[in-house]
Amino acid sequence: MNRPTRPPTGGTADDLRRNNLARLLKIVHRSGGLPRAELTRRTGLNRSTVGACLADLVALGDVVEGSPAATPRKGRPSPLITPSPDIVAVTVNPEVDAITVGLVGLGGRVLERWRMETSADLTVREVVTRSAGAISALLAGRTLAVAGVAVAVPGQVRRSDGQVRDAVHLGWREEPLAVELERATGLPTKAANAASLGMYGESAFGAGRGIDDLVYFIGGASGIGGGVITGGQVVRGASGYGGELGHFMVRSEGRKCPCGARGCLEIEVTQRELLDCVGLLPHQVDRLDEALAASDDPAVRAVVRRDLELLGVAVRNAVNVFNPGRLVLGGFLASLHRHRPADDALGADAIRSSFESLTVATAELGADQLTIGTAELAFSDLLADPAGHRPVRVGAPTG
Ligand SMILES: [Zn+2]
Repeated sequence: MNRPTRPPTGGTADDLRRNNLARLLKIVHRSGGLPRAELTRRTGLNRSTVGACLADLVALGDVVEGSPAATPRKGRPSPLITPSPDIVAVTVNPEVDAITVGLVGLGGRVLERWRMETSADLTVREVVTRSAGAISALLAGRTLAVAGVAVAVPGQVRRSDGQVRDAVHLGWREEPLAVELERATGLPTKAANAASLGMYGESAFGAGRGIDDLVYFIGGASGIGGGVITGGQVVRGASGYGGELGHFMVRSEGRKCPCGARGCLEIEVTQRELLDCVGLLPHQVDRLDEALAASDDPAVRAVVRRDLELLGVAVRNAVNVFNPGRLVLGGFLASLHRHRPADDALGADAIRSSFESLTVATAELGADQLTIGTAELAFSDLLADPAGHRPVRVGAPTG
């Protein structure tokens, strides 16, 4: 849940210091570690300010300052600043067939990822009980500081308290998932829409790195999700449910979608149909690229052509509305994109002036994408205000 912490406003000297700590920690986290001189260069702050802030971050236990590395170039060697290996985030992702629990270090390193198969009709109570057990086992015997727990839900989640409003594929409605998991673990817990968290991962460490205007589509077993970043800010909308790109209308007289409307992208373009047409089963999705490349069956080409056409409608709308610098495609949509004809660029039928600055990329983080992105949510309070948010120490004497 979100706790009221006093945000640094940049007004007083203390606010300024807290702002600087947040800037430095975010750069160290996103880079995974860098020489102090490079950190100074990237912030534009003077050396003594950076030195004082780093001393604070070292004292807080957030970063580690190594001994000066030998540099091939002339000049004083600069010590390497790395994220503290003790600080972690815990991630939970309930899906239709499994719950995945992960442990991610500051710097976006996936340390552990456990997948637990589940029965059909997974309940929130089962997710809470099994996740809490797995988290306890995951942390046992380790000396760590947990920045938080975050849950990636395939559905709409209220940001303020992690309430699941609707997760149609899991059959959940109005479930206080974050509150219950926090009660079971004693660790601060947040929850959000899984696709938007996948976007966080790609934006922080993958194909969207350094891009301020990004549109992201991801396709999986339970549909298509996505998200939008504009001017460096995630588009959330009034209540936090913005960015449902899977419900772009792509056929006015199309199929009925579980959301109640007709012709949504995610009901018209499905992983299941694509797998079926090349004779693969749902668990063989990692062979989809290979199967599409190997097939010269006209029926397969027809499915791919139709899917690309409908995806193209959604992409055209997104490019016209948001004018993104980059479009990132993940999951089976990346496979579709890799098998499109070379002379038929995705988004090419958008308004010319919006399309000309567009680059299209496929997601880079693979199987780690959702775990890394979910950890970004768990780390968010620490990264926003390192002096005001302290991780919870587990398994060790306090120090
Ligand atoms: Zn829909």
